[in-house]
Amino acid sequence: MAECLFCQIVGGAIPTTKLYEDDQVIAFDDINPQARVHILVVPKRHVVSLDDTQDSDSTLLGQLMVVCAKVARERAIVESGYRVVANTGRGAGQSVFHLHLHVLGGRSFEWPPG
Ligand code: AMP
Ligand code: ZN
Repeated sequence: MAECLFCQIVGGAIPTTKLYEDDQVIAFDDINPQARVHILVVPKRHVVSLDDTQDSDSTLLGQLMVVCAKVARERAIVESGYRVVANTGRGAGQSVFHLHLHVLGGRSFEWPPG
C-alpha cells in the first residue's frame, strides 16, 4: 500500500516523531490535534479499518489498546480522563483508510460525541 499515508509513515517516507514503536504498532502525534494531547496508535500492517479485522487480529487489536493506555500514562492524561476513538467508515468521520486509534486527552469531553 505504497500510496497509503500511514503506510508511508510506518515506512519512514513521511517523518513523524514516534512516541512508541514495537514490531506491530507505532504511535505518533496527530498533525491536527483536537485536544491538548492527540495521539494516533497505528498498526504497522495495512488494515483499512475495524471493519477489515477478524478473529486472527485479536492480538494486534489488544496490543493497539494496550499502547493507547501506555501513551496516555506517559502523557499524563489519565487523571483528567481520556478518550479512545476509532472512526470507522466515512459516515463516522474516517478520512485515512489505514486503521488507527485516536487517544484524546487534556480537555473535557461531551457525551454523546458530535
Ligand atoms: P480519521 O479522520 O479518523 O481517519 O483520522 C485521521 C487523522 O490523521 C486526522 O486526525 C489527521 O489530522 C491525521 N493526520 C493526517 N495526516 C497526518 C500526518 N502526516 N501525521 C499525523 N497525523 C496525520
Ligand atoms: Zn496503510
